[in-house]
Amino acid sequence: MSSKSGLDAVVVGSGPNGLAAAIALAREGASVAVFEGADEIGGGLRSAPLTQPGFLHDVCSAVHPMGVLSPFFRQLPLEQYGLIWRRPAASVAHPMPDGDAVMLYRSLERTAAGLGGDAKAYRRLVGPFLERPHDLLADAMAPLRIPAHPVGMMRFGVRAAFSANRLARLLFREAPARALFAGCAGHSVLPLTSPLTAALGLMFAITGHVEDWPVAQGGSQSIGRALAGHLESLGGRIETGRRIERLEELPAASVVLFDTSPEALSRIAGDALPPGYRRRLARYRYGPGVFKLDWALDGPIPWRDPACLEASTVHVGGTLEEICASERAMYRGRHSERPYLIVCQQSQFDETRAPAGKHTGYAYCHVPHGSTVDMTGPIERQVERFAPGFGDRILARHTMSPAWLERHNPNYKGGAITGGVADAFQLFNRPVTRLDPYATPNPRLFICSAATPPGGGVHGQCGYWAAQSALRQLARG
Ligand SMILES: Cc1cc2nc3c(=O)[nH]c(=O)nc-3n(C[C@H](O)[C@H](O)[C@H](O)COP(=O)(O)OP(=O)(O)OC[C@H]3O[C@@H](n4cnc5c(N)ncnc54)[C@H](O)[C@@H]3O)c2cc1C
Repeated sequence: MSSKSGLDAVVVGSGPNGLAAAIALAREGASVAVFEGADEIGGGLRSAPLTQPGFLHDVCSAVHPMGVLSPFFRQLPLEQYGLIWRRPAASVAHPMPDGDAVMLYRSLERTAAGLGGDAKAYRRLVGPFLERPHDLLADAMAPLRIPAHPVGMMRFGVRAAFSANRLARLLFREAPARALFAGCAGHSVLPLTSPLTAALGLMFAITGHVEDWPVAQGGSQSIGRALAGHLESLGGRIETGRRIERLEELPAASVVLFDTSPEALSRIAGDALPPGYRRRLARYRYGPGVFKLDWALDGPIPWRDPACLEASTVHVGGTLEEICASERAMYRGRHSERPYLIVCQQSQFDETRAPAGKHTGYAYCHVPHGSTVDMTGPIERQVERFAPGFGDRILARHTMSPAWLERHNPNYKGGAITGGVADAFQLFNRPVTRLDPYATPNPRLFICSAATPPGGGVHGQCGYWAAQSALRQLARG
C-alpha cells in the first residue's frame, strides 16, 4: 500500500485512540508514524509516582471495563506485549448512607440478591442483554449506523433513551438499586435528569456482569506500552516530544489522523480545512472538568462496609437523590459540598502500586468547565463520611485541577476528560454532524480522538473506526 513518496499515514497523538488507529492501519499494510507531543506515549494511559517514592498512580484512566471489552482491543495480542489485567472480586461498590454497600458482582444472581425488593426488576432489566453482550457492545461502540444486531440494540435503545433518574425511579422502588444505577450513570458527566443518561447506567451495569472491571498490572501505562509494542511489531514508528503546531511539521503522508481536540485539529490544519467546517469545530462543546486527588495511604481505605474493598471502583455519593443534586449543581456551574465521587483502589488488586502494607487511593469529582475551586476538602470529607478514619491513613496527596489536567494533556480542555459533552445530540454528532464523522472536508485529514463516536474511555474504538475511514481513502489513492 506504501505511497510513492513518504508514508501512508501519520497520526498526531498517541492516546489509546491514536495508537488504535495506527495499529488498524499498520495491520492492513500501511506505513504509519505516530507523533506524540508529550515525552511519554499513552495520553490518558500514563502512570507516575505522583505522591511518594514506591507509590505508582494512574494519572488519568484507572479502571478498564471498556478496555477489556473493546471489540477492537479484544482482537489484539496485547498480553504478548506485557498487558496483564488484574481482576477484582467486584466491579463496583456503592456505600449507602446507612453503612451497607450495594455491590455489582459478575454474577447477576449475587448482585440481585443484594437489591432486596428490586432483585427481580434488576434481573429483568439487565438479564436479557447478557445473552449476547458482545453483539450489543459492538453496536454500541460504533458510529451511528444500522446496527448489525438490531433486535438487541432496539431493546437497549428503548431503555437507554430515558434519563437515569427517570428509569431508576420507574423500575426500582428501593434506595440501593436506584443508587447503584445512578452511580454507574454518573460517569456520563451529565445531569442525571438528561435524556440518554440511562444508557451509561445500563451499559456499565451490563459490563460488570460480563467482566470484572479490571486494572492493568503496573498501571494503565501498561496498556499504552502494549499497544505501542504491538504497533512497532507491525512496522509502525512512534516519536515522542513532537508537539505538532502546523501541518507542515509533519512528514509527507497520504493521510493524517488527529488524536486531538477538535480545536487543535482546526488550529493545526488551518487553511487546509474550509472556514465553514472550522466554524462548526469551534462550536464543539467540551463540557465540565474534573478535580482529582491521588493519595499514598498507610493502609486500605477503612470503609464502614469492608465489602467495598472487593471492588476496583467505589461510587461515593449516597442515594440517587444526592447524586442527582451533586451532578445538577456541577452542570449549572456550582460546586457541591457533597460531590459524587469515582474512587478507585488499584493497589487492592495490583501489588506493584504500593510498598507492602501500604495502598494508593484515587478519586475525582466533576466540576464546572475550567473551575479553579480546590475540591480537596469536599472530596476527603465525602470519603470520610463512608470510611471513618480515612484522613488518618493519608501519608501524602497529589491534587489535579482542570488547569493541571489541560497542561498534562491539551485534549482535556477545561479539565474535560471524556473528549467533550456526550449528551443526546453530541454523543453521535461529534465533532460535527457528518455521515462519516471521522472524515473532514479535506480528504487527507481525519479525526480519531474521543471527540468522535463512540466518545470517551479507553477502548480505541474511535481510532479503529477513523482508521477504516482513512483506509477507504488510501484505497481510492
Ligand atoms: C482523570 C481521568 C480519569 C479517567 N478515568 C478513566 C477510566 O478509569 N477508564 C476509562 O476507560 N477512561 C478514563 N478516562 C478517559 C480516558 O482516559 C480518555 O477518554 C481516553 O484517554 C481518550 O483517548 P484519546 O486517544 O482520544 O485521547 P488522549 O488519551 O487524550 O490522548 C491524546 C494524545 O494526543 C497528544 N496530543 C494532543 N495534541 C497534540 C499535538 N498537537 N501534537 C502531538 N500530540 C498531541 C496528547 O499529548 C495525548 O498524548 C479518564 C480520563 C481522565 C483524565
